[in-house]
Amino acid sequence: MQATSSPGPRRNVTVIGAGIVGMASAIHLQRDGHDVTVVDRLPPGEGTSFGNAGIMTPSAFVPVTTPGFLRKVPKMLFDPMGPLSLRWSYLPRALPWLLSYVGNATPEKVETTATALSGLTSGSVQEHQALARGTGAEPFLHPATYAYVYKDEAQFERESYTWGLRRRHGAKMTLLRGPEVREMEPAVAPDYTFAVALHDHGYVSDPSRLVKALAEQLERAGGRVLRREVRDIEIGPAGPTRLLTDADPLDLDLLIVAAGAWSGALTKRLGNPVPLESERGYHVVLTDPGIAPRVAIMSSTGKFVATPMDMGLRVAGLVEFGGLEGAPNFKRARTLLKHVKLLYPDANTESFTEWMGHRPALPDSLPVIGRSPHFENVYFAFGHQHIGLATGPKTGRLIADLVAGRRPNIDISAFGIERFSA
Ligand SMILES: Cc1cc2nc3c(=O)[nH]c(=O)nc-3n(C[C@H](O)[C@H](O)[C@H](O)COP(=O)(O)OP(=O)(O)OC[C@H]3O[C@@H](n4cnc5c(N)ncnc54)[C@H](O)[C@@H]3O)c2cc1C
Repeated sequence: MQATSSPGPRRNVTVIGAGIVGMASAIHLQRDGHDVTVVDRLPPGEGTSFGNAGIMTPSAFVPVTTPGFLRKVPKMLFDPMGPLSLRWSYLPRALPWLLSYVGNATPEKVETTATALSGLTSGSVQEHQALARGTGAEPFLHPATYAYVYKDEAQFERESYTWGLRRRHGAKMTLLRGPEVREMEPAVAPDYTFAVALHDHGYVSDPSRLVKALAEQLERAGGRVLRREVRDIEIGPAGPTRLLTDADPLDLDLLIVAAGAWSGALTKRLGNPVPLESERGYHVVLTDPGIAPRVAIMSSTGKFVATPMDMGLRVAGLVEFGGLEGAPNFKRARTLLKHVKLLYPDANTESFTEWMGHRPALPDSLPVIGRSPHFENVYFAFGHQHIGLATGPKTGRLIADLVAGRRPNIDISAFGIERFSA
């Protein structure tokens, strides 16, 4: 439900970041009548928003760190096929963040996190549809079942804590047993005999082209998309006045920081350092998969997602701590090829592309969405970890609400940047 008061005076808004979060903010702000410029060093949708698994998932409010997480870490770290890895040379830098991250895995904190995130994840398919309406982005949206598959019911029961949490927060699901699993998705190996089919979900069949289509719409409607790297921010007594870039400086009226995993340097300059870390993730796309899965699937055995996309079958997942600068380790990506063969035995894994991206992650698994406590003309929208594609459109709407002075229709108090102030 959208609040109804007017969008307030027309402003010149500059958004740093042309990922899904920045572009969704830009479109919603433009619909409110503002003059919007988006600045990115890359073309739209070429950062983390390029290569995600494409799932629009209202049930993704459960953080990665849940009770018992720490106990599982050693096994995951030392398993070369496991979902978690760490560059040991990066450990000293990552350690404070990691300690805080696992410190949040208590039942009380997980409950609070899930409550806050469920407001953001709910209605993610409808939020995408509303954002895409009237733009060229609509064909990329596919409302569909999203299924977690298991070898057997006992494997599912071992995750009863997270499923209980999802149920309590309203996730709608059907449990499938035996042949029902292959009725839902015939390509799945017969040894997967249990599945949870989640309703009201969906997938995006090309996340990067979706963002590009939004950018094209922004420009058609009079907005600007500039290819620039932001190097510094000039700050006057009332707030930021200019962006210093690798080309000409850009004068500022109102600024939105939506630079994904790279937002930390910018918020520090604006007086709000944040413990933002990259949870690196990988994908492979099978460009000639030889199978045509009907639905997107999360393999609970391999902890990866396989999504039927326009460019092929995308297999995405893994978490690696190695910072923003370290080169990708594509050996990690190739473990996904082995995993997907276990899920889809008939898949052809001969021809593939591979990719690594940076999930923007804060240790409490919550994003930052809100106004700067220091400057009236600065708003933040970053830190969407594993769920930025799903929650980007609602984040953009919330940012437009805040700029307009409209009261957001969900509680966003948990997302303030102030929570990191000493
Ligand atoms: C393997 C993997 C699978 C995933 N699967 C899903 C999924 O199924 N569903 C889901 O909801 N989410 C998923 N995610 C998470 C999702 O992709 C991210 O949360 C989301 O893309 C973040 O969007 P963003 O706009 O914040 O960041 P980005 O897309 O990274 O955009 C930030 C932009 O800011 C620009 N930028 C940064 N600094 C500067 C600067 N100084 N000057 C100019 N430009 C700058 C960058 O170039 C970049 O384009 C997945 C992520 C990974 C890695």
